[in-house]
Amino acid sequence: MQPPEPGNISIDTLPIPAFSKNKIKAEILRLDKIHPLISGNKWFKLKYYLEKAARMTQPTLVSFGGYWSNHLLATAAACNYYGYASIGIVRGQKPEKLSHNLQQAASLGMQLHFSSRSEFSTYKIPEEIQAAGQLVIPMGGYGLDGARGAAEILSHCTAKNYTHVCCAAGSGTMLAGLILASGQGQTVTGISVMKNNHSLQQQVYALLDTPERKFELFHQFHFGGFGKKTDELIQFMNELYRMTQVPTDFVYTGKLCFAIAKLAETGILEPGSRVLLIHSGGLSGNRSLSKGTLIFE
Ligand SMILES: *Cc1c(COP(=O)(O)O)cnc(C)c1O
Repeated sequence: MQPPEPGNISIDTLPIPAFSKNKIKAEILRLDKIHPLISGNKWFKLKYYLEKAARMTQPTLVSFGGYWSNHLLATAAACNYYGYASIGIVRGQKPEKLSHNLQQAASLGMQLHFSSRSEFSTYKIPEEIQAAGQLVIPMGGYGLDGARGAAEILSHCTAKNYTHVCCAAGSGTMLAGLILASGQGQTVTGISVMKNNHSLQQQVYALLDTPERKFELFHQFHFGGFGKKTDELIQFMNELYRMTQVPTDFVYTGKLCFAIAKLAETGILEPGSRVLLIHSGGLSGNRSLSKGTLIFE
């Protein structure tokens, strides 16, 4: 397992017409370059959980996720790298064929435990796998420790140069971390990748130190729901790659870039804005697309 390399993070410009035509300067913080599996925001969100694990003797990290979970894969890879045992509790019955992410998590030593949807929704550790020395990471790394780690994302750029910091939001942990780290007068914008996830706002508020903090959420860029896609989204991702050489994933960062381009074109993002998009990784998820869908790997 190669080590995570935060030194590889770069800031790339996004010279696409949606931005240049509307006098918006857009840059993207390439967290996807840290590691192919402990990718992007997961490296930050796991940081303080891993520090806790380092103070335990022979810990087993236990976490939760769906069939295509980037979080379980990142947790498995980090545990493999640091020499910890790991258990992934997966929502739903064991499918006939595991997703690439789950296959790879298992091959990295993660013990997978499939849990019925009703059992899963309690987020309890099933009795048969409970043992001493377990450290439980909430689904998606959600929690104060996850947000504290995500707050460190902005230390990899000159944050004060930007009027807007924009990211994709699943559990909202990364968004909360960015809000905590943002400065006065800076707008933090979250693009929800789920359909009708109206508990998201409350989930984010719960991780903030003061309800005074301002952020905005957009709910109309889900392309059918979590993990769903349309031809328009895929075409946009290919076109973005052609123009900028920046690869995106169809679950999170493709939707983020599409959304911010759309907000620029429609004037919701004002001319003169200086925007930082967070490339939160997730490229491994593209392996569930059929070959040739994307012009990049
Ligand atoms: C997990 C993930 C997210 C979601 O982060 P949250 O903190 O749960 O909102 C965003 N982007 C990518 C690429 C991810 O893998």
